[in-house]
Amino acid sequence: MLSRDIYEIFTSFQGEGSLVGRRQIFVRFSGCPLNCFYCDTVDARIKNHSLPDTNPEKVISEIKALVTPDLHSVSFTGGEPLVSPNLLKKLASSCKKLDLACYLETAGIDASIFTEVVDFFDYAAIDLKLPNHRAVLGINAWKKLYHEELECIRIANRSGLHTIVKIVIVDDTTHHMLASICRDIAEYEIDLVLQPLTGSRKPSIELLFGLSEVAGSYLGKKVMVIPQVHRLYRDGTEKEFR
Ligand code: SF4
Repeated sequence: MLSRDIYEIFTSFQGEGSLVGRRQIFVRFSGCPLNCFYCDTVDARIKNHSLPDTNPEKVISEIKALVTPDLHSVSFTGGEPLVSPNLLKKLASSCKKLDLACYLETAGIDASIFTEVVDFFDYAAIDLKLPNHRAVLGINAWKKLYHEELECIRIANRSGLHTIVKIVIVDDTTHHMLASICRDIAEYEIDLVLQPLTGSRKPSIELLFGLSEVAGSYLGKKVMVIPQVHRLYRDGTEKEFR
């Protein structure tokens, strides 16, 4: 089987969420149907973006070559891995056979595909997009996406995965917006990560305190505020294979 679905494979430290700092091998898929205004993987969003053919056996041998004693897990990220379900399943199942833990980073775009792949994973980091992220156009499209994301969280929890829910916080995120979402996820065993955006749209520290307290009133100590740190690691020493 040939594929142009992999954008890059490299080793680094997890740069966001509650497992920040863990050594991982990153397998970045190309293609994503969303359009978040803050996207920092724009090139990887375009499917088949001038990529060389890659067969799964070659990807697995590249993963094997990157295994280090401190390895925590193999992170399947994007782009959006759920747009390539067959390859995702094949790679994750091969990693499981090699006794490598698997971590799925997804925007939760399709719960039926998530159901197909969930058994191959130990960890799932699922984004919940807010309407002000402009991931999709129009409130009806947002509601549909939100429904899929919630389903993915429910399935991950039911399947016993360590489940991380990530919400990007922007300067105009409101208490009301966050409260209605936290109400929907309060029943789940999750790490809720509020990830403040950096740059011109970054939220103030006062807003972060307020939003953390709102989330805490539903989820208690499951709430954490963690900015992205992967740029701090990028000094040119990442070991990249493609
Ligand atoms: S879901 Fe991720 S890859 Fe897709 S547009 Fe949003 S930030 Fe970019």
